[in-house]
Amino acid sequence: MEINRLVLPGMEVDACPIIIAGPCSAESRGQVLETAVQLAEKGVKIFRAGIWKPRTKPGGFEGVGTVGLSWLKEVKQTTGMLVATEVATAMHVDEAIQAGMDILWIGARTAANPFAMQELADALRGTDIPVLVKNPVNPDLELWIGALERLVNAGVSNVGVILRGFSTYDQKIYRNLPLWHIPIELRRRYPNITMFCDPSHIGGKRELIAPISQQAMDLKFDGLMIESHCNPDEALSDANQQITPQILDLTLKTLVLKENGQTTENISVLRKQIDEIDEQLLTILARRNRISREIGMYKKENNMPVLQTGRYNEILEKRARMGEAMNLDKEFVFAIMKAIHEESVKIQLEL
Ligand code: PEP
Ligand code: MN
Repeated sequence: MEINRLVLPGMEVDACPIIIAGPCSAESRGQVLETAVQLAEKGVKIFRAGIWKPRTKPGGFEGVGTVGLSWLKEVKQTTGMLVATEVATAMHVDEAIQAGMDILWIGARTAANPFAMQELADALRGTDIPVLVKNPVNPDLELWIGALERLVNAGVSNVGVILRGFSTYDQKIYRNLPLWHIPIELRRRYPNITMFCDPSHIGGKRELIAPISQQAMDLKFDGLMIESHCNPDEALSDANQQITPQILDLTLKTLVLKENGQTTENISVLRKQIDEIDEQLLTILARRNRISREIGMYKKENNMPVLQTGRYNEILEKRARMGEAMNLDKEFVFAIMKAIHEESVKIQLEL
């Protein structure tokens, strides 16, 4: 499969970063138009709003539906901005195209579902509308590429991607982990692919939008999709991760766009990977400690000693061999396993 640079009607896509901004959801005509006018005043050229909202649980705000398309049309007419919305079914595609949407995006839950992706690809066949595919909720690069392939195979070749992060069960700073190595690998395989980052859905909090946006710029993303609402506190969905057009403008002004220095770019890519791996290591250690605590409870209830020498030796030896097979220094593995085990014992003794 070949992926070329995204072409956006009337826009220079090499202008970096390309900004797509607007509310998570279209809520009312007034909210949509007010937000759009404020964003246009700040120079934003592409407006987003969700009309059909995929919610984790039923009972949340599920979007205004078709009527929202007419508000987006009005945004286009009054501000001249390009308008974008999310599609998840063939019916959404037909209605959105008929209403003159300029760009469509496919959400993370839909991108994870090959049946839905095929339905969308078939519905889009024969159109040249730009389509942005968000990463699937689960960290599976092949699934993401598969979603793109279904579109490209249907002749829908004006495509790009949006990194919105990957869901995890563990507690973490981010709402969805960026796992930067995944888009980095995607770019390695498809060097011309146009990549957006969605710091709102990655961070889940207003204060994380600026730092994540900067990281995305450091990693040479082409654009940002940021949720912006004229009155974020009152938003019906994703209130915590939306910012006013004014804050958006300030955020964009503080972004530092670095020169194309090959060496610094390479090192920042590698450092991001190290940061991410360290975060994963700590998450795994926290999980190990939780399990160790449970084992400690069991031992206590059953009057078993905390330290069982046989088990300790088995752990050390097995891990050392495992490590060797992975080209890890034996002393290094011993030292790490000893420290981890010591902490485990401490946790269990304190119960
Ligand atoms: C959205 O963009 O508002 C949205 C629902 O995104 P995602 O599919 O990334 O959850
Ligand atoms: Mn949202």
